Amino acid sequence: MNPFNHKQTLIIGGGLSGLLAAWHLHRAGRRVTVWEAAETPGGWAQTLAWPGPNGESGWLERGPQALRLGDDSALGRICTALDLDLRRPGPRGPRWLGKAGRRHPSPATLDGLFRVPGMRLAEKLRLLVEPFAPGAPVEENLRTFFARRLGEGFAREALPALVGGLLAAPPERMDVGALPRLQGLEARGGLVCGGLRMGPEHTCLPRGGTGALAQALAASLPAIECGRRALALEALPEGRWRVHGEDRSADFDTVVLALSPAAGTGLLGEAAPQAAHELAAIPGLDLRVWHSRHRMVPGWERGLGLLLHPPEGRGLLGAVSLAADDPRGVPGLLQLRTYLGGAYPVEAELETWPGVLAELSHWLPELGEALQVREEACPSAFPLLEPGHRARVAHINEGLPPGLHWLGAARFGPGVGDIAEGIEAWARSLQG
Ligand SMILES: Cc1cc2nc3c(=O)[nH]c(=O)nc-3n(C[C@H](O)[C@H](O)[C@H](O)COP(=O)(O)OP(=O)(O)OC[C@H]3O[C@@H](n4cnc5c(N)ncnc54)[C@H](O)[C@@H]3O)c2cc1C
Repeated sequence: MNPFNHKQTLIIGGGLSGLLAAWHLHRAGRRVTVWEAAETPGGWAQTLAWPGPNGESGWLERGPQALRLGDDSALGRICTALDLDLRRPGPRGPRWLGKAGRRHPSPATLDGLFRVPGMRLAEKLRLLVEPFAPGAPVEENLRTFFARRLGEGFAREALPALVGGLLAAPPERMDVGALPRLQGLEARGGLVCGGLRMGPEHTCLPRGGTGALAQALAASLPAIECGRRALALEALPEGRWRVHGEDRSADFDTVVLALSPAAGTGLLGEAAPQAAHELAAIPGLDLRVWHSRHRMVPGWERGLGLLLHPPEGRGLLGAVSLAADDPRGVPGLLQLRTYLGGAYPVEAELETWPGVLAELSHWLPELGEALQVREEACPSAFPLLEPGHRARVAHINEGLPPGLHWLGAARFGPGVGDIAEGIEAWARSLQG
């Protein structure tokens, strides 16, 4: 018999993981409550008001600036079911790699890939044999994965900026097994053939920003209690759980922890010490994000993207701007967001905005002074999914007593699409 039917489930954490889990359980007819410590649901996925210099309406994204959906993806299915009004941004503006002291076309494009400085001719030609790359070893980090598929030259000269800009960590410190899309591509014949078979992904923006996804999920749930932090779990007879909050306790048949590793560790401590120990070993990466508004620069109206080859960024990983017609920005102004830190040390001069602007201006000399600046610190923004991560996840799940579940970016992968895919599969596994 399905253990979730007719029983009370508590989901601790009302970020996207918790909201998605609750949404699936609720749609399957189960009784589910969400406790969220903050006053608003969404976790990182929140679109915050940021008025312009003259009080104009404007917003910034605390987490993802846009969503990436595949034609047949869990995230796409959810957006459709929620009837989210999605906008496909038009053509994008310039995308660059900052390396060898100046800008080059981004290696995320075909043109840029063949123009990465530092790659020898033979290394560029090696890119062409990617579909015939040898099979995967059992365990691999991102660097060895890409060196095997695209060659040493790519892994050495282009990969650090791509991985640093997306995952805020060096490729050799990330387990390829923690990134489900890469595994899916490999299983379907490699990056090129697998990409063709899996179909393209599109960048989409919900009306109201990416936080609108969290809001729509929360609005579809009957019981979400914000401002309610879970403090401790107590095992009761017959496999039930008592959850202690700041001002009250309540009993549940099933408890789902939809939390970062750090937050989950504290709660699991006594209930599942071995799982708590493994969870505590997953490092959280602190990201520093600066949002700034400048006068628009001609040619950048469609937005810009800059990734830096990590040794040269001195802790600055990259920057991305909104397109001029993005409803979150202030008309006429360039809205930029700049990332620093993660697994990379940030040099002392880049601890404050003037230092960040000086470093940015080296790569983007067209950029003028900022009219507005705001820092959003993102402690433990991303989990560092180190080599051996899949085995660690398996140990955590094995160490959880009946009635306790653990979900989140550290289990399913760092992107919203990975989380949506993982939680859809998790919810399906509970059926029957
Ligand atoms: C700056 C930044 C940029 C990003 N960019 C992208 C991107 O471009 N594309 C992409 O796919 N992903 C991106 N991500 C990652 C993505 O946003 C996250 O992976 C995702 O939002 C994580 O959701 P979550 O629910 O697992 O965790 P969280 O968002 O951390 O939610 C956990 C929730 O649990 C609550 N909580 C904690 N402890 C307790 C407790 N004891 N009791 C009750 N509640 C508790 C917290 O308040 C929080 O709301 C980005 C993240 C950041 C920070």
